Amino acid sequence: MTHLDREQLAALGERLDRRERELDPLYQQGRDRPSPNPLREPQDLADTAEGVNEERDRAALQQHYRGELDDIARARERMASGEYGVCDDCGLEIPYERLLANPTATRCAPCQARHERTFAV
Ligand SMILES: [Zn+2]
Repeated sequence: MTHLDREQLAALGERLDRRERELDPLYQQGRDRPSPNPLREPQDLADTAEGVNEERDRAALQQHYRGELDDIARARERMASGEYGVCDDCGLEIPYERLLANPTATRCAPCQARHERTFAV
């Protein structure tokens, strides 16, 4: 069971909704934009590099939006199942203040820091 009361959960749910409303149009926009024609003859080398970079940036951004939207969906599932607000790694409660700042957090601050150190790119 979660340590958060109904009011806190409602406030956090509201934050998730708001974030989703911000992200969703951005994600849809990027997805609807037609890809540059891969058969197009490159004008020169610089043009090609530019196009590749742009495409890569756009893909990375899309991936980022997608990831955040997935995080939001997962956070809602955790709320529904009563697992929300519990650290994935140590099983301790994630403080409400931390969740307010980052409603999709799945780790407490020390575990998140350790995770980032371990998986830093
Ligand atoms: Zn932890």
